[in-house]
Amino acid sequence: MLKGKTALVTGSTSGIGLGIARALAREGAGVMLHGLGDSAIIADLARSLADECGIPVATHDADVSRPNEVARLVADTEHQLGSVDILVNNAGIQFVSPVEEFPLERWSAIQDVVLKASFEAIRSALPGMKRKGWGRIINICSAHGLVASPFKSAYVSAKHGQVGLTKSVALEMAECSITCNAVCPGYVCTPLVEAQIENQAKVHGLPRERVIRDVILASQPTRRFVEVDEVAALVVFLCGESARSITGAAIPIDGGWTAR
Ligand code: NAD
Repeated sequence: MLKGKTALVTGSTSGIGLGIARALAREGAGVMLHGLGDSAIIADLARSLADECGIPVATHDADVSRPNEVARLVADTEHQLGSVDILVNNAGIQFVSPVEEFPLERWSAIQDVVLKASFEAIRSALPGMKRKGWGRIINICSAHGLVASPFKSAYVSAKHGQVGLTKSVALEMAECSITCNAVCPGYVCTPLVEAQIENQAKVHGLPRERVIRDVILASQPTRRFVEVDEVAALVVFLCGESARSITGAAIPIDGGWTAR
């Protein structure tokens, strides 16, 4: 379905981003695997994805908290793989603290990696998409882009900001065959959530299984994690021609969390 297209997925060396990169590659898209981590492991991932799917795969380790590195990531993808037809802004970090004790540098880091990087990647990729008259921008947001939880003021603010950015870009690009949507997952079991499980187990003095059921998944009515593959399948759908009228949407995939 996506043969001939190229996808840049930020934060695709791990978790949800890796699942999205894999799903897009299986549909025939060339992929820029991006993120931090062990370069030998990432090179292996790239090789196995290219072998399995028969598509070009490149890797990049730009620090997306720095706008000039985000611009370089987009330019390098265009240079190495030919274009950025699909941009998935997925890189993210988390930090949890009561608002009055929230360290300013942690606050700023979350805004930079989640919101400022999405803005910079979008504005760097748009000229190329406009030239080709086609584009798909998907911001991997969160249920926390639609509703709040205590102690996550920075993350909730950045994710709500991403939803606003999504709507503005969608309106500006509405006549250019470029769609921009936000995908808003509930809890997905990835390294980012593993850290929260460990932390909550310590805070509440509870075993891991009880933390998952009674703390982490308390707001998710299905009481099960959303699967990486479910999020990836939604992204693939949004990249297809049948989704060309879906733009400016913030789509929950959260086991009913935001229906409450
Ligand atoms: P993860 O920790 O498994 O992956 C995060 C990715 O971002 C990694 O590839 C990492 O290298 C990259 N990254 C982080 N900071 C970076 C930086 N400064 N520069 C470059 N790369 C950087 O996390 P995940 O759970 O897969 O989360 C992916 C996205 O999904 C995030 O935006 C997160 O907010 C969102 N999300 C996650 C969940 C969940 O429950 N896991 C739920 C809703 C939304």
